[in-house]
Amino acid sequence: MKVNNAEIVISAVSQKQYPNDRLPEIALAGRSNVGKSSFINRLIHRKNLARTSSKPGKTQTLNFYKINQLFYFVDVPGYGYAKVSKKEREKWGVMMEEYFETRDTLKAVMLITDIRHEPSADDVNMYQFLKHFELRVIVIATKLDKIAKGKIAKHVKRTRDTLQMEKEDIVIPFSAESGEGKDEAWGVIRQYL
Ligand code: GDP
Repeated sequence: MKVNNAEIVISAVSQKQYPNDRLPEIALAGRSNVGKSSFINRLIHRKNLARTSSKPGKTQTLNFYKINQLFYFVDVPGYGYAKVSKKEREKWGVMMEEYFETRDTLKAVMLITDIRHEPSADDVNMYQFLKHFELRVIVIATKLDKIAKGKIAKHVKRTRDTLQMEKEDIVIPFSAESGEGKDEAWGVIRQYL
């Protein structure tokens, strides 16, 4: 997809602030510092629309980016940052639940993982949390440029196995550095809109 227009519409903390124009949404989730902002920026050809987070765990808002007046990317706050207090973690949970449970314009969630590593316990929890709401999940295994070509299949399998992924959910190896996986990512987004 050629992105001509991308703008942040709102950073929301609660339901009443969500946009109400009924456009479809694709949410983006991932561990802090996994490469989520880089993924969005690469997809929409912006250097810095989704601010690459220098302080992991800081932005506790749902950021709604309107793309081509056609749909929203909803950037959800990163998880798994050790220094976040228990209270903040709870607040995060409430916010996530409110969003994932009620948002009927939400079409699918892209869960960003690091292809180099086995998904963390937090990644597993997140995947299972999303499936609890019966959401479709597309796993974006990023930082593909950091592993050897010959290891891709093995790492993808490990990702699937550790997350206990359902058959219909797919994994897309991706690199924000090289742009590999970008067309595949747009392909599935298009399917879900
Ligand atoms: P976020 O906290 O999940 O939004 O993570 P960022 O997008 O800010 O990325 C965290 C760090 O990983 C930054 O230093 C990025 O430059 C780096 N990074 C993100 N994606 C890739 C990638 O595909 N390949 C490589 N080599 N580095 C990446």
